[in-house]
Amino acid sequence: MNMPKEITRYCPKCNKHTKQKVTTYKAGKRRGSAIGERRHEEDKKGYGGQKFPKLAKPAKTTKKFTPIFTCNECKKKWSREGIRVRKVELVAV
Ligand SMILES: [Zn+2]
Repeated sequence: MNMPKEITRYCPKCNKHTKQKVTTYKAGKRRGSAIGERRHEEDKKGYGGQKFPKLAKPAKTTKKFTPIFTCNECKKKWSREGIRVRKVELVAV
């Protein structure tokens, strides 16, 4: 799917249509020291620790793409609900 790098869209903060830059949402880096990560590691330890078989191949063939719009005037970021696509290309129009 092709998507323009810049789009004219309504900005609720500016309360008007503004030019907004389009970028892709990326998940943050996982911290091994976070409590959930430590608890999960502890749960998996020992005999019978693995609760379900590890997936040999993923069920989904696509990944979710969540666009993030950055308002050029107030620099506030907005996102839209993610859609499933094989490939996304941000193209300059
Ligand atoms: Zn704005």
